[in-house]
Parts: sequence; C-alpha cells; structure tokens
Amino acid sequence: MSEELQEVFNLAGDAVTRDADGTVRLVGSECDDCNKRLFPPSDVCPECMSENLSPIKLSAEGTLYSWSVVHAAPKGWGLPFVAAYVDLPEEVRVFAHIVDADPDILEMEMPVKAQIAILGSDESGAPFESYAFTPLRKGVS
Ligand SMILES: [Zn+2]
Repeated sequence: MSEELQEVFNLAGDAVTRDADGTVRLVGSECDDCNKRLFPPSDVCPECMSENLSPIKLSAEGTLYSWSVVHAAPKGWGLPFVAAYVDLPEEVRVFAHIVDADPDILEMEMPVKAQIAILGSDESGAPFESYAFTPLRKGVS
C-alpha cells in the first residue's frame, strides 16, 4: 500500500512502528526493575515508581476485552466509531479504535490485529491517523 498519497498527521508518534514486513506494532514501556509493561509508554513505572524503563515492541495481535459504539465525539472524529479495550499477550490493556468491522460481528475475546487507520480530520479537513485494531479474519467464519 502506498503511504505517499497525502500528508497524514500521525497522532501516535513514536508509540507505533512497523516491522520490516509491514506489521504494525505498538511501542510501550517495560520496567527494568519489576518487568511491568505499559502502553502508552511512560517515563515512570506506576507499579514501583522506577524511572528505569525501556521501549518494548508489543505483539501485533491481541484479544477484544470490551467495546462501545461511540455516536458523539468532538468535531473531526469519524462517527460512529468503535472504542475498545484490547488485551495484548504482554498483559497490557490498550484503549483503541476498532476499524473495518461491523460492530454487530464483534465478540468478547475475539482475536484482533493492530493497524494504522485514518480516524478523523482536523479543522482544515486534513486527515489524522493513529493505531487501531481490526478483527483477525481467519479462513472460515
Ligand atoms: Zn516497575
């Protein structure tokens, strides 16, 4: 996919990256003292107050913990959207949008995969993007 089509502001900044194969990965923090993992990244561990944290690439795939369909949000957000909590294998619970899915097909604990999606536009109409998750579609439904 081409990413050169237009300037898109990335809300997530350094908190999202891509592997060489294009896989989207969130970048959190791992505490060097107690091994607690966090997302979004932080400079201080909320568990032990250590400031020895290192960036950690989180798994691209997780499971849907809960979600809600949002019909009202500040101007600019594409509506309605699905706001969700996704559990990653690193025991990190991430708040994110679910995209490219009819809310009716969502199920608790269904597998989801990270991606980057355009989530809205600013006052001038310029799009902005961030990380989001989409249901993992396997061969059989
Ligand atoms: Zn810690």
